[in-house]
Amino acid sequence: MTVNHTLENDSFSLGSRPRADATVDAERLIRKQETALGYRIMASWGWGADGSGHITARDPELTDCFWSLKYGVPFGEANVADLVLVNHVGEVVEGSGEINPAAFYIHAPIHSSRSDVVGAIHTHTPYGTPFSAMAIPLPMSSQEAVAFHGLQGVYVGEEVNVTDLATGQRIADALGHGRLVIMANHGLLTVGTSVASAIGFYLNAERAAEVCVKVPDGRVISSSSATDVHPSLGDETNGWHIFQWLVRSRVGDSTVVN
Ligand SMILES: [Zn+2]
Repeated sequence: MTVNHTLENDSFSLGSRPRADATVDAERLIRKQETALGYRIMASWGWGADGSGHITARDPELTDCFWSLKYGVPFGEANVADLVLVNHVGEVVEGSGEINPAAFYIHAPIHSSRSDVVGAIHTHTPYGTPFSAMAIPLPMSSQEAVAFHGLQGVYVGEEVNVTDLATGQRIADALGHGRLVIMANHGLLTVGTSVASAIGFYLNAERAAEVCVKVPDGRVISSSSATDVHPSLGDETNGWHIFQWLVRSRVGDSTVVN
């Protein structure tokens, strides 16, 4: 694939950080842009081509509501205008259309259980889903895995199609205070304090799962080494940086979603 990044992106540097001074309206727009860009990033690998997968973004003002993509919009064509706002009982309160029911049943209990979570992403990926069939936590066998050291859970229930909030709550409980939940026989889900970091860490999880699927008996680093490395790899800003790279390398012009 060929992408053309814009001059606007040239302000990105090692020291770049998420904007912290945004107004509510500006913050809402950032979250919606990151959501639409995240769908396009997924589509750049063909993830979600069959409609499986969802990204949600908590609204900065109506904090019991979240934004997600209107059902039926191809992920690679997601724009800010295609997002709808859903409340805590699943009603669309802004925008038109409906969202994937599983997006509500899985993500709503996570957003309500974790006030620190702004963004959440789940889809069925080439390695995340096969790895999930092992029904185990990610072993610390790659750099990418260390981002989840002490921050992952496994949902071992057999509801591979989530059709109610009670199941979603059990998934949220398995996630606990972590940033990754492995839904056995289903796939991966990551959360972040921004939509961007949730998506960035999702790529970490998929890469770590790839290592495990390809080298299931690979060396696992010690817990103390993982603990030493975790502060750098596991910082939320690192997830945000990965997202900026994904936008640059997989989408190019970030304004395409506006
Ligand atoms: Zn799923």
